[in-house]
Amino acid sequence: MTATLLTGIAELATNDPARSTPSDPLALQYDAALVWQDGRIVWSGPADRAPAADDRIDAAGRAVLPGFVDSHSHLVFAGDRTEEFRARMAGERYSAGGIRATVAATRAATDDQLRSNLRGLVEEMARQGTTTVEVKSGYGLTVEDEERALRLAREVTAETTFLGAHVVPPESADDPGAYLDLVTGPMLTAAAPYARWIDAFCETGAFDADQARSVLEAGAAAGLRGRLHANQLGPGPGVALACELGLVAVDHCTYLKDADVAALADSGTIATLLPGVDFSTRQPYPDARRLLDAGVRVALASDCNPGSSFTSSLPFCVAIAVRDLGLTPAEAVHAATAAGADALDRSDLGRLVPGSPADLVLLDAPSHVHLAYRPGVPLVAATWRAGRMVPPVDGSNWQPITHG
Ligand SMILES: [Zn+2]
Repeated sequence: MTATLLTGIAELATNDPARSTPSDPLALQYDAALVWQDGRIVWSGPADRAPAADDRIDAAGRAVLPGFVDSHSHLVFAGDRTEEFRARMAGERYSAGGIRATVAATRAATDDQLRSNLRGLVEEMARQGTTTVEVKSGYGLTVEDEERALRLAREVTAETTFLGAHVVPPESADDPGAYLDLVTGPMLTAAAPYARWIDAFCETGAFDADQARSVLEAGAAAGLRGRLHANQLGPGPGVALACELGLVAVDHCTYLKDADVAALADSGTIATLLPGVDFSTRQPYPDARRLLDAGVRVALASDCNPGSSFTSSLPFCVAIAVRDLGLTPAEAVHAATAAGADALDRSDLGRLVPGSPADLVLLDAPSHVHLAYRPGVPLVAATWRAGRMVPPVDGSNWQPITHG
């Protein structure tokens, strides 16, 4: 099959695990080239030693990095919450209850309306360099609507997450116990064929630690891996629970006690930070520096959703992480690529080494630092997924994000 050479790369972020160090997490190479064939990287190294290939692309002194791996999003929804955002910026407080507005709009939407919105957002992400995205359910909250959300999500990614335990829907407000029985019973049974992961929103106004534990345990019994929304709106038991259960990742981590930080370091559970949420809800930012210095692994994700973080842009999250979370630009890019892949237990992704999928981003800049140095500027010149440029210009060769 056709081999493609991308040469003239001023700075190549490889995330090569054999060379990545705390001072050089991206394992940078300079004046580099890459070759891919059949959707996978087959060679990387100095441009002047690159082998011949069928096609040749000149990066002309630009930077190349692995495609972003966005390990947390909620893209199956209808409606929008512009007015809620406007009110919040005028001083109103964010609460978990706004989710119910999106639930009503999502239930009322047709499959095609949800599919069109979902695919539009995935394309928007690809234009900003995201090559893998995790997508959660959680705006259906009935057996049929949760199953539908996951079936649609599975059309665009293998990384699908059942989030029936997002909030208690209005019709179950008088009997949250019965709703939990539904989530861990018939809803889980319907969702499991389309889901790889199970998640719960462990927060005041959503589910407590005992409820979250019962959801995660039921999911595990059905063959789903666990993840958790925790410690977003205040200190809480979620991070400790995630570490105790040995989950791959726990997400938000805005309010952490010292014991939470120690538990994260000991368990190896990745702290996935979602600074787009803290930006959009006027919450304090988590202290990523404190986490890295304590030996905690940190990932960055968008949490793209219509209520608390309606950004699909990991470059935006990288810029905030550098400006306000205390990460270096290299640490932030690593957190949004290799660590995002690890947060999905997909260490095959987020690296540009021989054998990796050819999922990569060409920046219209000489260095990854520009992602933070030039915030808000569309620096992604091109994105390739499995060696093919995305998104398709005319929509004719749409391909899902999975790697089989
Ligand atoms: Zn979320």
